[in-house]
Amino acid sequence: MRYAIISDIHSNLEALTSVLEQIEKEQVDKTYCLGDIVGYGPNPNECIELIRKNCDMILTGNHDYACVEPSELVYFNRFATQAVNWTIDQITKENLRFLSNFTFKKILNNIIYTHANPHTPETWEYILSIDEAIFNFSQFTEHICFIGHSHQPITYIEDEKQKYTFDEEREIALQPNCRYIINVGSVGQPRDNNPASAFGVFDTSTETYELIRTGYNVEKTHKKMIEAGLPEFLADRLLTGR
Ligand code: ZN
Repeated sequence: MRYAIISDIHSNLEALTSVLEQIEKEQVDKTYCLGDIVGYGPNPNECIELIRKNCDMILTGNHDYACVEPSELVYFNRFATQAVNWTIDQITKENLRFLSNFTFKKILNNIIYTHANPHTPETWEYILSIDEAIFNFSQFTEHICFIGHSHQPITYIEDEKQKYTFDEEREIALQPNCRYIINVGSVGQPRDNNPASAFGVFDTSTETYELIRTGYNVEKTHKKMIEAGLPEFLADRLLTGR
């Protein structure tokens, strides 16, 4: 089986369209979404509708959650709050109802899928360092945990002697005696100094994981965000992937 795993779309329709076209070429069997369909960008409704049409499993991210539970906004910075409030104004009743079906974590075939971390997904705590990865490895037993949330693709590895490393290679051969926390990066707001969208493809027949990057019309999304009155800071960061 081949799986595409996408995360952090953030209402970026141009990025999502380009990623879905690439997924079509990758000939995957299933597509899973790890959350944050909305927030930051200018096309929340279009993105929710495309994700619902194209994804076989959809998890909740912190921005999706905040649209339904605005009390969560105390944890958001000024620009993210502005964008969530803008999103709440734009979103249709039907799409808001869809976001209210909270799913924080799924376990399928010895793999955990979650937005932020496997330990306490609903706290939205980040995994940004090897120490945070080591703590999280002690909190689950499955072979792989796929996450998003930081918008920075990286793979943390635990070997059979409990030694820990990380890998930023695009292609990783997965070993049966190792365990992995794999961050698939972000479709709609990459933050690793590369403005191209990121997502992962996991192939169970070859036991490989591949990080895929696809360019999209960043200028078009940038222009839409400025015209919508979304914070300039959020529009500008797309141009550099930061
Ligand atoms: Zn996000």
